[in-house]
Amino acid sequence: MRAIQASAAGGPDVLTLVDLPDPTPGPDEVLVRVAAAGINYIDTYRRRGLYYSVSFPHVVGSEGAGEVVAVGPDVTEVAVGDHVAWSSAPGSYAELVLVRESQVLPVPVGVDLHVAAALPLQGMTAHYLVTSVFAVAPGHDVLIHAAAGGVGLLLTQLAVSRGARVIATVGTADKERLAREAGAAEVIRYRELDDLTRDLPASVRALTDGQGVHVVYDSVGKDTFEASLASLRRRGTMVLFGSSSGAAPQLDPQRLNNLGSLFLTRPTLGDYTATRDELLWRSRELFDAVLTGSLDVRIGGTFPLAEAADAHRALESRSTTGKVLLLP
Ligand code: NDP
Repeated sequence: MRAIQASAAGGPDVLTLVDLPDPTPGPDEVLVRVAAAGINYIDTYRRRGLYYSVSFPHVVGSEGAGEVVAVGPDVTEVAVGDHVAWSSAPGSYAELVLVRESQVLPVPVGVDLHVAAALPLQGMTAHYLVTSVFAVAPGHDVLIHAAAGGVGLLLTQLAVSRGARVIATVGTADKERLAREAGAAEVIRYRELDDLTRDLPASVRALTDGQGVHVVYDSVGKDTFEASLASLRRRGTMVLFGSSSGAAPQLDPQRLNNLGSLFLTRPTLGDYTATRDELLWRSRELFDAVLTGSLDVRIGGTFPLAEAADAHRALESRSTTGKVLLLP
């Protein structure tokens, strides 16, 4: 099979197309012919050797959707021919991938496999952020950074559907249009501010009667962290869930007191899909929302498998919107 390997830690150039033997499913695994693999920011961290312990070379990617072509002897709930998706199967940038049965998400009839590949990782992230990290509800003012990104567009829609007023930040005018279509009531083009750390909280307070927001969802990290803290109202919640611009600075807990008894959390998807029931609950709600038309999954770009390096360059240069897929 053809696959994309990261030969060593580094930039997009380390991604190379290789030929590898077709994998054979172990007892609790299924073998899937990949229809589309999802590109996620975490793939770029792993490629660069950041934050996670990864060995090189490794086949990149963890998300996708496709058709089951073989099952291991202990597999009971998945059969050859099933359409499945997953958020956590190492080596997904490939024509074939092994997925543990415990990680398989059934794709309902009526959901296209490309949409199914676009949803698991970013969709379940948006879902756990608005349901379980901070339960977004009517009356909440919510600040979402990078709102036209993969997680951002889904998070904006889910927060709005739960009754919140979303204040979004985005990099460009095109991204502003997408954030508004997703339901953002207010959009701030944060790259145009003279001083993001000073001016963003001022803009947010002007939009919230001087109070600040109930919760900030911050995936940008280094560039926005201080502005996010300063945009919160008393007892607000700071959800730092990514570092697209680099790692956030160290924080003395005393500052949370001085800023108004703030809450700070740094969550990760694995801890919010820790049981099979929780994983299935989140994915089922997302697929249902797609089927009823209440959730729009924007596929902003597709790249042939061999062009994975270009897909990473696009994501890291902030030129993508919504989901980016690799097509084997
Ligand atoms: P996105 O599609 O959101 O792409 C990243 C976006 O971040 C860019 O388009 C850009 O939007 C913004 N950005 C701001 N500063 C920078 C910068 N210096 N370099 C690059 N991008 C920048 O990616 P994903 O949806 O895949 O992931 C978003 C974030 O969420 C990532 O940080 C990822 O690690 C995190 N994440 C965390 C999870 C968790 O469970 N903790 C799970 C999934 C994702 P703009 O132009 O509008 O500024």
